[in-house]
Amino acid sequence: MINSLYIHIPFCDHICAYCDFPKQLIQYSKTEEYLNALIDEINELKIPDDQLRTIYIGGGTPTSLSLSQLEILLFYLKSHFKKLDEFTIEANPEGLNFEKLQLIKQSGINRISLGVQSSSNRILEKLGRHHCRKDVVNAVDMIKKIGIYNFNLDFIYGLENTSINDVKNDLEFALSLQPKHLSFYSLQIEPNTYFYINKTKTVSDDELADIYAYISKTLEENSFVHYEISNFALPGFESKHNLTYWHDQQYYAVGLGASSYVGNKRETNTLSMKKYLEKKLDKKTEFISKKDEEFEFIMLNLRLKEGFSLSEYFDRFNIDFLQKYRDKIAKEKEYLIIKNGRVSVKPSYFYILDTIFLNLIS
Ligand code: SF4
Repeated sequence: MINSLYIHIPFCDHICAYCDFPKQLIQYSKTEEYLNALIDEINELKIPDDQLRTIYIGGGTPTSLSLSQLEILLFYLKSHFKKLDEFTIEANPEGLNFEKLQLIKQSGINRISLGVQSSSNRILEKLGRHHCRKDVVNAVDMIKKIGIYNFNLDFIYGLENTSINDVKNDLEFALSLQPKHLSFYSLQIEPNTYFYINKTKTVSDDELADIYAYISKTLEENSFVHYEISNFALPGFESKHNLTYWHDQQYYAVGLGASSYVGNKRETNTLSMKKYLEKKLDKKTEFISKKDEEFEFIMLNLRLKEGFSLSEYFDRFNIDFLQKYRDKIAKEKEYLIIKNGRVSVKPSYFYILDTIFLNLIS
């Protein structure tokens, strides 16, 4: 049974220098048409009222929608899905106000993921963000006042001409806001971004490794569990929706450029707004063989501190993992933990996870 739905809102008030998500500048004339197409797409899935446990509204910037547009979407979701354990919306600090937060709270949303990225106004400007440190403090204040205490703060580190001291400031700032969940992502320079075109660099790999270790150590000292490569949570506040992905479970996804995983297929909607509004989803379909599924299961689950269960792996693939990968495991044993029927990567080696994974399965 599929328990999770991702909803993509591709609109933003501005475009950040590093961003390669499917997004475009908001045009209010198109937004309502988009929401209609989106709601039609969800209806087409014919998901029973009581089936979903998690919904994640991401983007883009969902809070760039006007109050009345947000109301159309949230009213629809609230009246259709009644058994949600976790209902998340992404927000930007400058896009929140008290009215939107009231609507968010009344719609049953119980988790907010706030795109903070940095506590330094200098770095925020370089990233092309349109908020400042004070906006973050105000947004968190309003989120708490409205009664939502389960919130995540997203940060990015590693931009050239920044140092570990900037990350220390970010951590101090983040902890002072008392979030339940924190994400720290290393900056990736992706093609078709302003940073790529301008040949912007990140700090060196050695510095990235030091920063990564420092973030992990500091947050663990402050009771956060480093439960996924880039994610930290107070116990019990791990993202249920995102765990669906990392456990390699299936999920629905709707909206421009959204990718779902249903049955043995990954389907990705068109990136053309024109086609999407005409309800021509033009899906790209990738069939996932049992072998691909096995690799994806290992790769995704090893992102988690808890790794995966050998019996779950056997039940799903009818393969004895320890037997099949015996020689590779022997070579990689310095990096792995195999105990209590589970396999995981030692968190201190998370930063070279890709290499460990490739050595294991190739
Ligand atoms: S990073 Fe977020 S706010 Fe910035 S352009 Fe991308 S989706 Fe929009």
